Amino acid sequence: MSATRFQHTLSRPCQVTGRGYWSSQPITLTFFPAPAGSGIQFVRTDLPDNPRVEAIADNRIDMALRTRLANGSAVVDMIEHVMSALYGLKIDNVEVHCTSCEMPGLDGSSHAYTLALEAAGRTVQTAHRPTYTIAQPLRVGSDSQWVMAFPDPAHSGLSIEYQLDYGPDSSIGRGSFACPVNESTFVHELAQARTFLTLAEAQHLQSKGIAQHVTSRDLLVFGDQGPIDNQLRFLDECPRHKALDLLGDLALVGFDLVGRVVAHRSGHQLNGRLASALREEFFKAAHGTMHNPGLHSQDLHSQPEDKRRIA
Ligand SMILES: [Zn+2]
Repeated sequence: MSATRFQHTLSRPCQVTGRGYWSSQPITLTFFPAPAGSGIQFVRTDLPDNPRVEAIADNRIDMALRTRLANGSAVVDMIEHVMSALYGLKIDNVEVHCTSCEMPGLDGSSHAYTLALEAAGRTVQTAHRPTYTIAQPLRVGSDSQWVMAFPDPAHSGLSIEYQLDYGPDSSIGRGSFACPVNESTFVHELAQARTFLTLAEAQHLQSKGIAQHVTSRDLLVFGDQGPIDNQLRFLDECPRHKALDLLGDLALVGFDLVGRVVAHRSGHQLNGRLASALREEFFKAAHGTMHNPGLHSQDLHSQPEDKRRIA
């Protein structure tokens, strides 16, 4: 474990406004600078007493196709693209005031968040950012879907890889994307990669009354011949987006990671379980001797059922 850089917050507040994909509800997010050690705190300003939800894996609720956090009855939903932008830009301490539950869907990427946060600017704080260097391989998942963290002694930062496989009959197909994680790669390689789904998935959701306002121009809907009414920003936009999601879920560790994370067909639930397992390793390594404001170990007792360490 080492502290290799100082923490950052925003230089001034900034705002992002949109509608939730799932709920269609309008929402405004206002990002405020916050003290060192306070981490990412979502604040539901629309609810009585303005409850807070800390962005750590301990608060994650298992949900299909998105990442949800809760503190009691206060919920924030689809936070992964917000978290990915904050982690990718190394903005460690902010309050995110929310006027509704579900984060803006926007164009299905982290692009608008990235532009707003970059325009607000970053201020260096006096405390070091806690860092965990992955010490041994750690894996969650099954034989067909998994995510693994590895030590990577040759490098001083985090690198991620996502391996996507929708099978030979889908126009989404197979592909992978890998990159080191830093501000430059985040902005240029990940931030603009958009959410995607198949036409059958889109029709199924809308038949249940979900995402009624969303069209195939708002994100990538894949038919037999590729994206409908839309063009890819990258030939490998789908695995890039899954890497963006992976980073947003890993951000729930609440510290910097050093090592390599490889995901094979994983979704938010497996990604989140790996984040919980990495938090557990972090606190084991800290052995209760290090003061970590904003990091809580009391909820780390439960072992994910499918977590296993490999030799
Ligand atoms: Zn996503």
